Amino acid sequence: MIAAETFKGKSVAVFGLGGSGLAAAHALHAGGARILCADDKPERVVAARDAGLATGDLHAADFAGFDALLLAPGVPLTHPEPHWTVARAKAAGIEIIGDIEVFDRERRARLPGLKLVAITGTNGKSTTTALLTHLLTAMGIAVEMGGNIGRPALDLDPAATLAVLEVSSFQIDLAPTLSPDIGVLLNVTFDHVDRHGTFEAYRSIKERLVEGSAVAVLGHLSQEVNAYARRVQRADAYGFAVDRFTATDTAPRGGDFHTAQVLRGVDYVGGVVAHSRLESREFADAPRLRDVHAGWQLTVVQPGGDRAIGAIPDVASLRGDHNAENVAAALTVLLALGHDPADAVPHLASYPGLPHRMEEVGREGEVIFVNDSKATNADSSKTALKALANIYWIAGGKAKSDGLTTLDTAQYDIRHAYLIGEAAARFESELAGAVPVTQCGTLDKALEAAARDAAAAGGGVVLLSPACASYDQFRSFEDRGDVFRTLVSQRLEAADG
Ligand code: ADP
Repeated sequence: MIAAETFKGKSVAVFGLGGSGLAAAHALHAGGARILCADDKPERVVAARDAGLATGDLHAADFAGFDALLLAPGVPLTHPEPHWTVARAKAAGIEIIGDIEVFDRERRARLPGLKLVAITGTNGKSTTTALLTHLLTAMGIAVEMGGNIGRPALDLDPAATLAVLEVSSFQIDLAPTLSPDIGVLLNVTFDHVDRHGTFEAYRSIKERLVEGSAVAVLGHLSQEVNAYARRVQRADAYGFAVDRFTATDTAPRGGDFHTAQVLRGVDYVGGVVAHSRLESREFADAPRLRDVHAGWQLTVVQPGGDRAIGAIPDVASLRGDHNAENVAAALTVLLALGHDPADAVPHLASYPGLPHRMEEVGREGEVIFVNDSKATNADSSKTALKALANIYWIAGGKAKSDGLTTLDTAQYDIRHAYLIGEAAARFESELAGAVPVTQCGTLDKALEAAARDAAAAGGGVVLLSPACASYDQFRSFEDRGDVFRTLVSQRLEAADG
């Protein structure tokens, strides 16, 4: 744990006693702050009190007596409306911060040997953070990972020399002086407007992470991030990108010319590009051989010239264009840290992946079972549907407002859809005429039907990628994915027996 000594003698109200709030309360207490902790959930207050933290009624407290309000990231700061503690803190004129702010103040004041890489973006944060940590560890470089993934930032080891933190927009919003050594902005797309009011507000919060960073690593192909890069033209920015060959491309591609062109328009210090390895294939309906995308080559792009550093291995944990982007991002951070990304490439194959994100959970003959329970909206499901072929798709749950309307099913190799949960009837009408569907009601029935159909067809991928929240039938997307994994294991065991 990192003791928050920069708050020694100060008085801090702490609201929200989940994982990171509790860790912050402990860090403040250990650093010599006077704290008063509260939460809406009585059991959390009891747990904090039992752990030796001072708890009490913040409603009755005089906020002018506090120096700061420490807020958990799940508590609304501005929208849909400021939490009552925020209103009280504002009226009293005290600062409102989160645990990442405390971590970074502590780091800057007392832990000069601790380098910080902070990673944000609308999508791919967890994957890039976990992958970067995996590569550093495999290369023999000591690193601590935390933030919005795994351990709270203040639970990390103060003796560490390198920390990689995943940070959400909520956390950045509560970290006004966050100044990482390397800030990574993967991409920005429409999200979380309910919590930030407007898309512009959300985007500017994301941009603030890299604005405060000594060095920026930017997702060159993200429209919003690219616009930022062009606007600010920083001298210290690294860029990364993917360049996927599509069937409509006609010009010859590949080689130095191609990769250097991908990062054009911004004067990056350097970067890593993943680009299509082409294979000539014969198609029944085409008179000549045609080039197709057949994997990813990696190139380091630097002023001295491009350098090929190998390929992304064909492993389940890194399938899909989105993961090629995450690989390019992680390798670019290594470049920015002064390492040679080529040394990391051999370790890509051993990246285990994260649970619930295109996670292969079993095989039965030619049938593969994939758990993508993290896909809680249609956009997320698209990445899995695009990355896989011959798909027996289990979808449904608690639908988001746009349902499946943004999904162009013709782009994907969906053989059949098995629908569950509240959204099932709506999804059936949205898929009508495009994909054959079976109403299954529950996950166990859907798995059974999908596995049976895939096996009867000689093989395929049974994919749980619900495009829905889980709350109608499960506690969380993790719970839903765990149930799926267990059902698959039971099935495989029964088949074995
Ligand atoms: P986050 O932590 O930002 O939510 P994750 O790494 O957990 O992102 O990935 C969640 C889902 O987002 C994945 O299952 C995939 O569908 C999608 N995704 C991952 N990386 C990217 C990316 N670079 N671009 C677009 N979508 C992505």
